[in-house]
Amino acid sequence: MDPFAKCETNPRVKQARALGIYPYFVPLASESGPEVCVDGRSMLMFGSNNYLGLTQHPRVKAAATAAIARYGTACTGSRSLNGSLELHEVLEARIARFTGREAALVFTTGFQANLGTIAALVGRDDVAIIDRADHASILDGCRLAFGEVVKYRHNDMDDLERLLARYAGNKGMVIIVDGVFSMHGDLANLPEIVRLKRKYEARLIVDDAHGIGVLGPGGRGTAAHFGLEDDVDVIVGTFSKSFASTGGFLAADARIVDYVKHAARPFLFSASIPPAQAATALAALDIMESEGQHFKQLWANLDCWKAGLGALNLDIGRSETPIVPIVIGDDLTMLAFWRNLFDAGLFVNAAVAPAVEPGNALLRTSCMATHTEEHLERALEIVREVGHRLALVR
Ligand code: PMP
Repeated sequence: MDPFAKCETNPRVKQARALGIYPYFVPLASESGPEVCVDGRSMLMFGSNNYLGLTQHPRVKAAATAAIARYGTACTGSRSLNGSLELHEVLEARIARFTGREAALVFTTGFQANLGTIAALVGRDDVAIIDRADHASILDGCRLAFGEVVKYRHNDMDDLERLLARYAGNKGMVIIVDGVFSMHGDLANLPEIVRLKRKYEARLIVDDAHGIGVLGPGGRGTAAHFGLEDDVDVIVGTFSKSFASTGGFLAADARIVDYVKHAARPFLFSASIPPAQAATALAALDIMESEGQHFKQLWANLDCWKAGLGALNLDIGRSETPIVPIVIGDDLTMLAFWRNLFDAGLFVNAAVAPAVEPGNALLRTSCMATHTEEHLERALEIVREVGHRLALVR
């Protein structure tokens, strides 16, 4: 039997390609701003994680260029050996301060930050208790860990309590959740999770990839939004969204960070983030701390976008963040919607299982601080016109 025979058969991809509704790997020929160029055509971008729009900020660009001029293009080695720069350490100190922790550790990606942190902290005698809708990197981190892994129904606190009661006294328990769920834009029920965590003496890791920069006072994230910063043991984050860069981090007590630093294989055996990426994240952090207008504009745009979609009677779920899903359900109907929006000049993301529950296909839309009123109006008009044509809006 040829183990590679599976590569010939990928029925869902084949079907979508044959129908001309395959929505992935669309190459841009421009910056990832509110307007992008695809195949020589200008499109409105409503599918980016560039929430604060900082990839285009002159100070951020200048910081990246200056870092290349000073440090070159890459470190070509892991942090533990020859890939550490002073810049990485400055960034770690600033992230620790921003998140209100003793220390932080910068990883090459947010995905690796979850892999390394979870695999290091969930040992043989422990159980990871995770939300069913957690990000793929949390699931894969759990697969790498030696401990047991159990899932509770999405944001179902009774189900979480059932699992905590089952393992209390037998195993070390680590609850791991997304602060903001990446497809529906809803928030983890942190107040209740924290109450249960205290009651059952568990630990709590929050992956705040989509919360930091966007939620809470000064954009300090989901825990800050709920006033629960002291109750979250470990924050994992990424630089690939509001921070306008790539890379990830862990922020926690110094002893936890020091432990992970010496145990996390995705950290130890992968080259460090390049100087330009570190300098970009640092500059973005400076701007988050000094220019509150981006944060305010993002939320003003979001109010307008959600009100507009709501007025079209589209199902936008329980979003409380700049991620706004348009839930369709059936895969092919959603893909047809995606294709027609794309042809009309609107770029959004298509999500099918396993990114969402089967039968819950959705268009993942998102707002940026740099969308203008005109962008928002034009985008809503496209959704209205296409939705009408396909009988998806009333
Ligand atoms: N966690 C969540 C919730 C995410 O959405 C993502 C990225 N989509 C990651 C982690 C991984 O981050 P990165 O892109 O830095 O690998």
